[in-house]
Amino acid sequence: MQHMNTTASDTAARPNADDAEIAKFQALAARWWDPNSEFQPLHRINPLRLEWIDRLAGGLAGKTAIDVGCGGGILAEAMARKGATVTGIDLADKPLKVAELHGLESGVAVRYEKVAAEAIAEREPGAYDVVTCMEMLEHVPDPASTVAACARLAKPGGRVFVSTLNRNPKSFLFAIVGAEYVLNLLPRGTHEYAKFIRPSELISAARRAGLEQDTMIGMTYNPLTREYRLVEGDVSVNYLVAFSRPA
Ligand code: SAH
Repeated sequence: MQHMNTTASDTAARPNADDAEIAKFQALAARWWDPNSEFQPLHRINPLRLEWIDRLAGGLAGKTAIDVGCGGGILAEAMARKGATVTGIDLADKPLKVAELHGLESGVAVRYEKVAAEAIAEREPGAYDVVTCMEMLEHVPDPASTVAACARLAKPGGRVFVSTLNRNPKSFLFAIVGAEYVLNLLPRGTHEYAKFIRPSELISAARRAGLEQDTMIGMTYNPLTREYRLVEGDVSVNYLVAFSRPA
């Protein structure tokens, strides 16, 4: 994938963002915390990924964390509830406003900011024990640049957690045809197949950014039981990778 091959980050002038992608999330922002909305999948997978991150990070309590592409703050808030000091960043301002309001209502403090990953990495390099970037890379023009920014944000010895969608015939069938056209789990046009990222591509971009892979796990959805699960060994559609920045 040519889009994984660059690591340019001339973000001040031209942020690594696709306006059409940002516009999709702007338009839906008001429904972010409605568990029966387009964001239901994010609500349903949140406990799974939260526990996985918490365990691999050796406990989020007392850690500094940054959630890159945080949207309405589903994961950011959950990490703060676990006792982390959390920053959430995104380039869509409406989801960020929703996140801020939700935090006020729930009494969970998260610092939210509209800033590109590359820009905050330049400002706050090595500041975070935990960096998360979930369900976001497949919406970005240059995911390798985002991965490099995540690596830079992590403290030496810190952890970087990334989730995205694999690219193969099965993921096309499940993540696009199944989720958007058959089961109506997501609005049509949410995902673009060409932007899906193979684990090998993600891992080599992370290596080039100085990260080491710790572990990888798949996530599956069973339409009959309507259950999401983390599964060892099946990364064919949704998957999560944990990386470390060497100390
Ligand atoms: N990470 C959150 C939200 C996923 S939805 C979660 O998993 O719960 C994808 C998010 O990525 C949206 O909030 C969208 O605005 C954001 N996004 C898309 N392109 C981006 C970019 N180039 N820079 C920062 N955020 C981006």
